[in-house]
Amino acid sequence: MNAVQFDQAGKSWGATTALHPTDLQLEQGQFSVLLGPSGCGKTTTLRLIAGLEMPTTGRIHIFGRDVTEIQPAQRGVSMVFQNYALFPHLSVSENVVFGLKVRRVPKAEIIERLRKTLDLLSLSQLADRKPGELSGGQQQRVALARALVADSQLCLMDEPLSNLDAQLRQEMRHELRALQRKLGLSVVYVTHDQTEAMSMADRVILLKGGRVEQVATPTEIYQQPRTLFAAQFIGSARMNVLELEGSRIAGTHIELQAPSGATRVGIRPEDVHLGGDLHLPLLRTDFTGADLMLHVGVGQQSLVVRADGKYARDVQGEIALGWEASNLHWFDHDGHRIN
Ligand code: ATP
Repeated sequence: MNAVQFDQAGKSWGATTALHPTDLQLEQGQFSVLLGPSGCGKTTTLRLIAGLEMPTTGRIHIFGRDVTEIQPAQRGVSMVFQNYALFPHLSVSENVVFGLKVRRVPKAEIIERLRKTLDLLSLSQLADRKPGELSGGQQQRVALARALVADSQLCLMDEPLSNLDAQLRQEMRHELRALQRKLGLSVVYVTHDQTEAMSMADRVILLKGGRVEQVATPTEIYQQPRTLFAAQFIGSARMNVLELEGSRIAGTHIELQAPSGATRVGIRPEDVHLGGDLHLPLLRTDFTGADLMLHVGVGQQSLVVRADGKYARDVQGEIALGWEASNLHWFDHDGHRIN
């Protein structure tokens, strides 16, 4: 069964279409990540699932039930927001059980669920503190506890880690993922950070301009991006894309085995190796510590090559390099992948 299913569901505000009519299936028990640049419709998609927005077209199902006309509170869905939305005057415990009290869950059950949830998130010691007396990471955990205490099977998260510093964010990614697996939760997670999506997702749903660009596992989307946009959005260093003239790289004599219809070739900086038959002029270098990014000229275009950070930083002149033909990505005039 799907945790979430969109049947031509879309959302417009007047002339602005945040989400074009979309078919989408998110599997039960999976960690699905909505990824894309600012304004592509991630939050709108999440809010449609939550019931905080009504679709202007189509239907939405949650665990097989048509919820299109169902109120948010009746959808059996919990939500974690970027700003945590904790009540500052309430303690950790009071924040966590707030929703249960509103729903008039019996007191004994509230106490038991609270104990379990605080335990699960290592918050028991902090139960009596106010949000203002907690670190960012602890506040984030409280927000998570408040979502999990409801025991709903579908949890929606909108950039929940973006207020944390880089190291804590990385730790929380693992913690969240472990928790999701342990509880068998279905999670829909919004981020614009492709590293976060790649490290957390079972499935990445890449959005662009209110349309689904690709739905795939992190490995698939990295190895077989369906479009130029996907190719360049995914990957810690942007994929190089070079214009072709026939089967040559434009403005050069470099001949490639280009399939028919290919107008551009893509190659990731990490897929170009040093030492090879091509000798290309070095334009500049960027040192990042672990890596030395070499920018070389290819006719009027340039190519970024990822070299080891230990590689001599004072390299000059021409660089010898090469690549495996199997690492080349081909795109047609419309930016669609060929084969
Ligand atoms: P970000 O990463 O910046 O949060 P997003 O991918 O989550 O972006 P959405 O918030 O879903 O994008 O917005 C998608 C589009 O819909 C944008 O063009 C936005 O301006 C528009 N939009 C969102 N909410 C409304 C609204 N209430 N009224 C009018 N337009 C809206």
